[in-house]
Amino acid sequence: MLVVSDNVRPLLKVSNSDISVFKECLRKWNLQSFNRRNLVPRKPSTALWIGTGGHYALEHWTHYGGEYGILEAFDKWVESEYMRIQDLLGGAIAEQTWNELQKAVDMGKEVLSHYSRWAQKNDPFRMVAREFEFSVPIPYVRISLLDSTGRLANWVVKTWGENYLENEDFKKTYIDRELLNDNSIPALFVGRLDGIVQMLDDPSTYYVIDHKFLRRTLSEETLLIDEQTSKYIWAAKIAHANGWWNVVQDAARIRGVYYNIIIKKAPKAPDLLKNGKTSTAKITTTREKFLATLKQRGHNPAEYKDILDKLDNNEEKFFKRYRILRSQNEIDLVGDRLYYEYEAMMRIHALNPDIRNPAIYPTPTKDCAWKCQFRQACYAANYGGDAEYILREAMDTSDRTYYLDDSAFEDMDFGDE
Ligand code: SF4
Repeated sequence: MLVVSDNVRPLLKVSNSDISVFKECLRKWNLQSFNRRNLVPRKPSTALWIGTGGHYALEHWTHYGGEYGILEAFDKWVESEYMRIQDLLGGAIAEQTWNELQKAVDMGKEVLSHYSRWAQKNDPFRMVAREFEFSVPIPYVRISLLDSTGRLANWVVKTWGENYLENEDFKKTYIDRELLNDNSIPALFVGRLDGIVQMLDDPSTYYVIDHKFLRRTLSEETLLIDEQTSKYIWAAKIAHANGWWNVVQDAARIRGVYYNIIIKKAPKAPDLLKNGKTSTAKITTTREKFLATLKQRGHNPAEYKDILDKLDNNEEKFFKRYRILRSQNEIDLVGDRLYYEYEAMMRIHALNPDIRNPAIYPTPTKDCAWKCQFRQACYAANYGGDAEYILREAMDTSDRTYYLDDSAFEDMDFGDE
């Protein structure tokens, strides 16, 4: 049992992405985590647009139990995102940024309309729950609300007020769920499931569905050791066992994960040749797109039978699905592991968040160049430049209010800088 008692605000909540960034690079975690400096780039990243907007569109799509058409839902998300970016940039969006965003929107619409046509014919499941936000206790971790002298800790007062027992968030999270015991609360593992699906070929089984919008598909081997979804199944079972979530009658019937991989690529129209015919050169497209192009050009599909036949099974280039069973052993293990991951994070969390803090060291890899938005500041911190200036210029504090953490460092005493 880890008992956390201190005046430094402890990690009240951790998410899977928080844990995986922590394991990837301590410096990146320190800068990015909602539990630490909570920084996000001021310039919007279009790379993430299709994924985030696509998740929103699938969540609200009527075919999956939502309230909008897939493109209507995507448009709603785009509209709110434009407003958010305008606010972030002080009202004006530069032409280049605007064009990049527009390109991402066009691609998102093409990908989603292609997916909607395909999924309505090919979904082997029924969506029984969408986007479930969970927060479940991490085993064997208790956070004392009292400091080492036995008084109410400063961070409790700053987070929920002196009358924390009357605070709505505190009541809902801890008291109503009977998680407050002896002046201590558990640390929580939080996250969001994309949904739960019931398989049509075996209606007694359920899977956690995980939508992934990627540039290229993943191998089954990679997914076999994916921790995120095992943790989500673990959390779904805990939430179900405690009566906090009753979507499926028997949580034991959640057998594994259904990966729904959507490639961020739209089918291409074949070229029109100088001789007036449609090109049959190899391109990434579908029978449907090829046929529609032929019709548009008034070309006879019979003359293109060979290429149309070849394109019959080409949807695999755009959509890939894997049904992966998770054993009880795997699920138990990720639950047990959470304790050790939390403990390791708490050790680092007690440290000064300055980017130059040598105890919060970087882990450079070849992926830094494309995967880390802090690489310039990271380099500056290494060579002795003004890394904090780079962070101030390029970053903002995130508005990820979902994880409520706007005062993580107020109580910390870091001594002399
Ligand atoms: S650039 Fe690489 S080493 Fe530096 S913070 Fe990012 S992930 Fe870590």
